[in-house]
Amino acid sequence: MVLHIGCIPGDGIGPEIVRETRKVLDRVAEKYGHEIAYTEILLGGASIDVHGVPLTQEAIEAAKKSDAVLMGSIGGDAATSPWYQLPPDKRPEAGLLAIRKALGLFANLRPALLYQELAGACPLKEEISRAGFDMLIMRELTGGLYFGERRTTVENGLRTAVDTLTYNEEEIRRIAVKAFDIARKRRNKVTSVDKANVLDSSRLWRDVTSQVAQEYPDVELSHMLVDNCAMQLVKDPAQFDVILTENMFGDILSDEASMVTGSIGMLASASLNDTKFGLYEPSHGSAPDIAGKDIANPIATVLSASMMLRYSFDLDREADAVEEAVQKVLREGYRTGDIMSAGCVQVGCTGMGDLLAERI
Ligand code: NAD
Repeated sequence: MVLHIGCIPGDGIGPEIVRETRKVLDRVAEKYGHEIAYTEILLGGASIDVHGVPLTQEAIEAAKKSDAVLMGSIGGDAATSPWYQLPPDKRPEAGLLAIRKALGLFANLRPALLYQELAGACPLKEEISRAGFDMLIMRELTGGLYFGERRTTVENGLRTAVDTLTYNEEEIRRIAVKAFDIARKRRNKVTSVDKANVLDSSRLWRDVTSQVAQEYPDVELSHMLVDNCAMQLVKDPAQFDVILTENMFGDILSDEASMVTGSIGMLASASLNDTKFGLYEPSHGSAPDIAGKDIANPIATVLSASMMLRYSFDLDREADAVEEAVQKVLREGYRTGDIMSAGCVQVGCTGMGDLLAERI
């Protein structure tokens, strides 16, 4: 199979972690008989340095021509980087928001998985973390409160602010379909999270997800109120497989789920549209404080690439091989500085990339 991958190294540690991820992908291609054609795409600060803007039309076209895009991270140190002297719509992050919009990415996926080898970093009590957890938060990304009409007015001398939370059934349906499809590649369980005891938008969400569930009799659907879900994530995270939720609830719950793993350098993410196309990137930022020192952890980006193999290319066996390589390297005691613990062997970004590629 020929994989056309758009590649955005980005800023800060981005080029280092993408370089190591390509090493792993190239090894996967070699082992399983695929060919990878990479197209380099400039975004964020790297694009400002060359073109004066964080995103060009050519970059959008190049991304659209790819089957999937692998990204490092975007942005610099706001206190010292000249990129942040520019007006807000010309700064690195504006490029990221614009490319997500141009590509129609409405579903954001963030897995939160506790590796037994890293259980010490989990802030939960040992009796809870012992069971381990492996969940995936699917957050709607282009609707809801963050995109609704908003205004601030003064009424009778009092400032009054209004934000509106709107969803139509098609917006709910398309992300529910994604969630059920992805649950089929995991443990066949979807927990749909809403606030249906209060909000009309949540009652519609519940109704439409229940309708979609009828098309997936092999996937178990349950509904949970968002306040309960926030509690359950720290009380019994092992119960979750896919958590499906709207934009604002997902924003909050995905950060909570990330925190309970305790390891920011390990967390992958993906944003998908209604085709097989996706933009795959680590959950963390560009870490300008450690850029160029060969100490960044490339695993979040490598795991994002494994999501790309699974969800954009349906190469489940190859994705499993990448995830098993991560497990093996951790089991053998190799760690980058951010996840280092006593008795382990510390390696740099390049060293970790080499080890992962060798274990494929
Ligand atoms: P950050 O995630 O870059 O860094 C937070 C801390 O975690 C830092 O101490 C950093 O050294 C460490 N860290 C992050 N990733 C690591 C890795 N792979 N290995 C080892 N340590 C790692 O967050 P921040 O400092 O708030 O943001 C820095 C820049 O990244 C900003 O410009 C911000 O806008 C940008 N950012 C970009 C994205 C994105 O591209 N999607 C997401 C978040 C932040």
